[in-house]
Amino acid sequence: MIGRNFFLLESRRLLLSLAVGGACWLYSKDSMLSLLLMASVLAVSWGWQLVRVYRWFAHPEDLPPIGGAGVRSILHDVYVLRSRQPQSAPATQRSQPYLNESLASMRDAALMIDGPGNLIWCNDAAEYLLSMRFTEEKGKPLAKILPGKSLRKYLREENFQKPLRIKPGPDPEFCLQFEFSRFGVNDRLVFVKDVTEQDKLERVRRDFVGNVSHELRTPLTVIKGYIETLQSVAAGSNATLKKSLLSMETQALRMESLISDLLWLSRIESVEGERKDDQIDMVELLKNLCEELTPAWTDREIELLTPSSLNILGDAAELHSAISNLVVNALKYSEEVVTVKWTDTVVGPALLVEDQGPGIDAKHIPRLTERFYRIDKSRSQTTGGTGLGLAIVKHVAVSHDAKLFVDSQLGRGSTFRLVFPADRAVAANASPATVTKA
Ligand code: ADP
Repeated sequence: MIGRNFFLLESRRLLLSLAVGGACWLYSKDSMLSLLLMASVLAVSWGWQLVRVYRWFAHPEDLPPIGGAGVRSILHDVYVLRSRQPQSAPATQRSQPYLNESLASMRDAALMIDGPGNLIWCNDAAEYLLSMRFTEEKGKPLAKILPGKSLRKYLREENFQKPLRIKPGPDPEFCLQFEFSRFGVNDRLVFVKDVTEQDKLERVRRDFVGNVSHELRTPLTVIKGYIETLQSVAAGSNATLKKSLLSMETQALRMESLISDLLWLSRIESVEGERKDDQIDMVELLKNLCEELTPAWTDREIELLTPSSLNILGDAAELHSAISNLVVNALKYSEEVVTVKWTDTVVGPALLVEDQGPGIDAKHIPRLTERFYRIDKSRSQTTGGTGLGLAIVKHVAVSHDAKLFVDSQLGRGSTFRLVFPADRAVAANASPATVTKA
């Protein structure tokens, strides 16, 4: 195509140089000078073309220069050939070995798996950590290389937001953490870390808190028993002794609540990674909760609104404890009616606990769920709080993939919202909307 039209297309340039040469000969009658002039016109014109072509090569993404017809035809053909090739191929070909090389040199184990979960690639660290040889396992499903229910389930669910921890055995303590991220069309990059030590430390801390709390229960029961005995013996004695015994009783009860909250928190933590999917009738749970609280808060009103009848997949005891902490806090820190609402939102079902109490300054909100974080120590002491209630709520929220939001303004009350993901909601045949006064 290029050769066929070249001379035809360049004829204009040739005609121009002939015209210039002819004019020169007519004027000077000097053949040599005329030929020289013709050659110069052609050389300058083609030289200029070459400069433009070099410039275009430096920026091949631009359109080719509109130049002399012959060169234009060549450039057009080059441009068409280039645009027929997939643009990404050279970049990928160049970047893939580079990427593989950098991942291969990493100390952390890295793997690549395809959409169905088959092993595409892994580095030396992964071979060592997973005790396998890439050449033997290439193309096999990762869930077969590392058998176990949790990895299979994790890959099936494709929710890679939280890392996965598994104990591939045979050493019962050996613990690996997997972090998945998607790349390419449907491939996954997996980083694996040995977290045996971290896992052991976390377990020791949990066990320690759990054991200490458990061990404190017996002596505390004995002390409480003695306080009761002394109170009955000292019934008719002086006011100072009675006051001291009352204070001892209050502190013993506080200690009892602390121990029971600590034990509950360590129980929730120990099963945090487990999937909780019992079907919980939330309307029923909330009604029961309000009824349970009524005897202790006879002078207070709890308004229960249930415009949603959705059930939740979760753990009944954990949900009960989290919601009870929110409602008790609302009762403790306010004096007006407390509203509990179970409703459906665009992102999923939500539980709202609303009070008209003193509200919370925005600066405290991010730290509310820390253990023993209290805004006002004296107020918490008078209300008998342990400082663990919202930490429990947060743990329960995490283990149910829910989010806790706090909307509050000083002097205007607070609303605590637990928003569950839509995939934890299950339709139920409960009554659509009820209003209960507890
Ligand atoms: P506590 O047992 O002290 O209530 P929590 O963890 O339940 O501990 O709550 C932490 C702190 O958050 C409380 O000490 C209190 O200051 C504040 N708080 C919790 N709920 C409310 C509420 N509804 N209104 C105002 N302040 C609240």
